Amino acid sequence: MTDYLPNALIDRFQRRVEYVRLSVTDRCDFRCVYCMSEDMHFAPKSDVLSLEELLEIARAFVDLGVGKIRLTGGEPLIRTNILSLIKSLGQLKTLEQLALTTNGSQLHRLAHKLRALGVSRLNISLDSLQARKFRQLTRHGNLDQVIAGIDAAVSAGFKQIRINAVILKGRNDDEVIDLVEFAQTRRVDIAFIEEMPLGLIDEHDRRLSFCSSEELLNIITQRYPLSPLGDPNGSAGPARYYRTDASRSRIGFISPHSNNFCHLCNRVRVTAEGRLLLCLGNEHSVDLRAVLRSDNYHFDLLKNTIVDSLTIKPERHHFDLSETPQIVRFMNTTGG
Ligand code: SAM
Ligand code: SF4
Repeated sequence: MTDYLPNALIDRFQRRVEYVRLSVTDRCDFRCVYCMSEDMHFAPKSDVLSLEELLEIARAFVDLGVGKIRLTGGEPLIRTNILSLIKSLGQLKTLEQLALTTNGSQLHRLAHKLRALGVSRLNISLDSLQARKFRQLTRHGNLDQVIAGIDAAVSAGFKQIRINAVILKGRNDDEVIDLVEFAQTRRVDIAFIEEMPLGLIDEHDRRLSFCSSEELLNIITQRYPLSPLGDPNGSAGPARYYRTDASRSRIGFISPHSNNFCHLCNRVRVTAEGRLLLCLGNEHSVDLRAVLRSDNYHFDLLKNTIVDSLTIKPERHHFDLSETPQIVRFMNTTGG
């Protein structure tokens, strides 16, 4: 067996990878207008990692010192038997934090089970509190069901819940205050995410819909004075957080365009097809599925491949809003 140094996952820019986002499916029950086109083609099932392969990859990262795994997709909670994977992940001894990002559609029935199996943090997407608009933005979503899911999550006692909202100009920028107050009422955090040019969509022009974090910060401060917060978890995440005097809920801004946070990047992503992506905004990647399915497969081979992959982690992303996106993969492929 190869002995790995504790610093095995440090890249050329001295950033330590401590966090992996695992996409467990590229499929979804929604078709959010900024994430997918209406008519999406998904990967054939045989190309998607099995639950056993996903667990093997997670074990490799944890063995290499990763302390935090976030399951995402697509919609992770529509993957068949996802709870069995979550149960196994929850039993990994040195995994400090198991988190999940979801559109909330299945939480009304799964929130308590997820908590019991060891998921401690949830990000739940919610872009509108108006049923018709919610349906338009998600194309298939049912607002009442998602709100029931958020309430179930609140009652299940997760350590942290954060609402994620993508704000599009002229669509839901009139709901920023309502969304903040919704989060405050439930004592959960909220983060506003700038729309990223991932995948070619035809529903709207991303150059016109783009709403910067600075604009949203202005809207909120006109109603509530905001105090900036440091990073209490030391998690070096991309969100800049604030708080109002009246509530403990944090209000975050994730600004891939206006605030480049690449120098703090501590994460990598694995797509549902087993592609290890070293950066959200670049195509540098390594095919872990090929390793897993090779004739001479063994666990050390997988770990060595992961260690070697860090030599190609790019220094930073360069998003722009030109007509042709530089990154052709959609966010559901990448795993948000
Ligand atoms: N289906 C789950 C959900 O919606 O939370 C998890 C996957 S989704 C790809 C993860 C996050 O990415 C969501 O919060 C979603 O709003 C965000 N997202 C998707 N496409 C985006 C884009 N083009 N720009 C910015 N955020 C995006
Ligand atoms: Fe599905 Fe999440 Fe993408 Fe919406 S953002 S289409 S819920 S994967």
